[in-house]
Amino acid sequence: MFSMLKSYAQACCNLLFPRSCHICSKLLCGATARFDDHLCADCFASMKRCDVVSCRSCGSALTEEREKEEYFCRRCRNDRPDYHRLLSCYVYDGPVRSLIHKLKYEGRAYLASTVAKLIAAALADKWLDQFDALVPVPLHAARAREREFNQADLIARHLARGTSLPVVPALQRSKNTQALADLKKQGRMRVLNHAFRLEERLSPMLRQRRILLVDDIVTTTATARMTSRLLMDEGACRQVTVLAFAKG
Ligand SMILES: [Zn+2]
Ligand SMILES: [Zn+2]
Repeated sequence: MFSMLKSYAQACCNLLFPRSCHICSKLLCGATARFDDHLCADCFASMKRCDVVSCRSCGSALTEEREKEEYFCRRCRNDRPDYHRLLSCYVYDGPVRSLIHKLKYEGRAYLASTVAKLIAAALADKWLDQFDALVPVPLHAARAREREFNQADLIARHLARGTSLPVVPALQRSKNTQALADLKKQGRMRVLNHAFRLEERLSPMLRQRRILLVDDIVTTTATARMTSRLLMDEGACRQVTVLAFAKG
């Protein structure tokens, strides 16, 4: 009875205040036209998935035979990170770029639930079973205050819903790092060195655990490399896998 009333109320509400897609503004009418309450099926269909055959470390496409055999691109073969592998879901372009922009810079925190659903849609069933805890990549405190939320933390919490997995915000950013994409590799590493620290109080929750390190977007992998080193060395984690909604 309650669920009937609830769906009736929802139908009335949709009639009075029709929802529309946050990317293209099209009205979300009918179950087949929508991905969820915030995204239409057409925008979802136009999101480009990352290549299945891609480098385990950086997610770039593999072209040479040797690369395909080893699952590492030429660059990462000689410079392997401390994380086990990178799971990147969509290419940072078109509707994926708009969605991240609206979530991060227009303060639409509720879009983190759409991002979590899109991640689940891109990965195999029961993919979360292989982890023991989720760790979000942190924002610097000053940026978190401006934005009022850390999108990686929200995404991790939505992913963990309905599972028994804990979200452990054990990583802290100790320096407000400048935009990394503009720097060369040595410069990036110099900036990132000491940029993160582990929250000692929470690190016992990570010891010998298989960690999913969650971020909204991965570009240079410098942050993933630095934070996973910290988790493996100081956190004594068993394994770190990096999850990125988008690959830039
Ligand atoms: Zn749309
Ligand atoms: Zn690579």
